[in-house]
Amino acid sequence: MTARRPLVPSYGTASLADLSSSLLALLGMDTGNPLGLEPAGRVLLLLVDGLGAELLRAHPEAAPFLSAHPDRVLTAGFPATTATSLGTLGTGLSPGEHGMLGYRIAVPGTGHLLNCLRWTTQGPPVDPDEWQPAPTVFERAAEAGVAVGYVGPSAFEPTPFNRAVYRGVRFVGADTVDDRVEGARRSLAEPRSHVTVYYGGLDAAGHRFGWGSPRWLEQLAVVDRLAERLAQTLPPGSAMYVTADHGMVNVTERIDVDAVAALREGVALLGGDTRARHVYAAPGAAGVVLDAWRDVLAGKAWVVSREEAVASGWFGPRVRPGWLPRIGDVLAVPYTDCAVVSSVAEPIETSFAGAHGSLTSAEQHVPLLEVSTR
Ligand SMILES: [Zn+2]
Repeated sequence: MTARRPLVPSYGTASLADLSSSLLALLGMDTGNPLGLEPAGRVLLLLVDGLGAELLRAHPEAAPFLSAHPDRVLTAGFPATTATSLGTLGTGLSPGEHGMLGYRIAVPGTGHLLNCLRWTTQGPPVDPDEWQPAPTVFERAAEAGVAVGYVGPSAFEPTPFNRAVYRGVRFVGADTVDDRVEGARRSLAEPRSHVTVYYGGLDAAGHRFGWGSPRWLEQLAVVDRLAERLAQTLPPGSAMYVTADHGMVNVTERIDVDAVAALREGVALLGGDTRARHVYAAPGAAGVVLDAWRDVLAGKAWVVSREEAVASGWFGPRVRPGWLPRIGDVLAVPYTDCAVVSSVAEPIETSFAGAHGSLTSAEQHVPLLEVSTR
């Protein structure tokens, strides 16, 4: 089988990082406006976890409101995973600059992984301000006098992950659709405001039941209604955008690292997602690991060294030198619908029907829809 080419994210022109800086520019800040967004006094960003552009286009009947709005397509960034994309949206930087380089990545020098979303590690505690030191777009907007709000599940509020990517926001805990609409309405009361509403139910249904499944379609309908109601609450002079952190594929094959001895030889730590593996080699074993993973995953995945991934711009035009050891010595990124699972270490992810992380259009392409009351 001929390997397809990876869809390298469009950093600098049409990525989630470019959306963040363009939203600041729209509010009058001097950040550059790569997406060319028109000025507005208030901006509302509805961030729908897992709403890939291809997924939405496949089901217009379940999302009549969203499907009636013309969209553009952005690339999520690599890996196409929530921890990384929220870092990108939160900083306006590419992953190589902000350092949130995957779901589970190595904490250099500790021999342990950090789960960047839950902020759990078996090693010493990780300070979110040191792990992601760049100022957030929210801090920058607040400094410029913009009221910055974030409406999301109340259970998320004080986590270190939110400290890393949402520093500077005023949290509004909201657990239902009604709460979210009300939270957004109140947050948009200020004449200059930047409000993010996060919705996670679609991604959760996609993981569990697969995208396109009845449960996923139910969630898509909820998202559509949420978007429509948010649009109805927009005060004059507002712009609302709908986007996502990544798309998804339905898994048709599982390759279990715990059942294939060749995938464990020389491996010190296995990180990433099932569709964007960071493989950390024992000292001196990187070449052996690269060869073995290439061999086992031939015809199914792009398997490259850290240096190749960085040189190809997967993480952005530049990777901060201090962040390089956070990247696996080897990256394994499926282009077929297979998942590289670890049934012993990650039983829940192993069971997932839907997964994401890779450089396919189904995972990379996210919509950017606009509703305006300018
Ligand atoms: Zn997910």
